[in-house]
Amino acid sequence: MEKDSDITKVVRQHLEMDEFFTGGFAVKGQNAGPEQTQTNQAVEAEKAEKAAELEKIADEVSQCHKCNLSSLRTNSVPGEGNANARIFFVGEGPGADEDAQGRPFVGRAGQLLDKVIAACGLKRSDVFIGNILKCRPPENRDPRAEEIINCFPYLQRQIEIINPEIIVALGAPAAKTLLNTNKSIGELRGRFHEYYAGIGRAPIKLMPTYHTAYLLRNYSQENRRRLWEDMKKVLAELGLPIPSQS
Ligand code: URA
Repeated sequence: MEKDSDITKVVRQHLEMDEFFTGGFAVKGQNAGPEQTQTNQAVEAEKAEKAAELEKIADEVSQCHKCNLSSLRTNSVPGEGNANARIFFVGEGPGADEDAQGRPFVGRAGQLLDKVIAACGLKRSDVFIGNILKCRPPENRDPRAEEIINCFPYLQRQIEIINPEIIVALGAPAAKTLLNTNKSIGELRGRFHEYYAGIGRAPIKLMPTYHTAYLLRNYSQENRRRLWEDMKKVLAELGLPIPSQS
């Protein structure tokens, strides 16, 4: 009997944490009563609606020819993840691996981002991952102003739909574009800024931090510590437990 109740407790805790990460409200009490079930259904319905809107944007992106990058792409990379995510990671733009697969952060920088997400006690499917540019710039050169101007509205719409509690801007191009500033990532990182999603909407907290590609090129203890410090602030802000880092 004791074993059974242990298992029930573990399952309940797991469900609570899972929903906590994704913005749901499931299984907070002893048992899920009719009201709780209704709430869960409403959350799921809203999530499905948001997912459909995100899919529509992905379709538009795949047909976008606003700039020359479209003629060079194998695949567009609209972004992916949880439509109810509490954290939205924003990178710069797809690289070769992302262009080949049509998915964000799947190359070496992506594998490191996966480790960062796991170190936070989260799964990739808990968060949303996108980029400033949806198509790969040749030779991974920096995004050009006109490319950002054309592409940024897709990201703005994604943020508006998901309405995350926190945006993590990975690297200077993401942080500068989202914050409309020319400051360096060194000046910006480590503290929360505000992203304005539109008139009448509450600003969203934004944490700039190092891009994982930068970290791979500059893999020092100090840089890793800084990125982890930034992520700890994000977890604390969300009221999530901070796993100890080995
Ligand atoms: N770097 C980025 O900025 N985005 C990706 O999707 C992959 C690498």
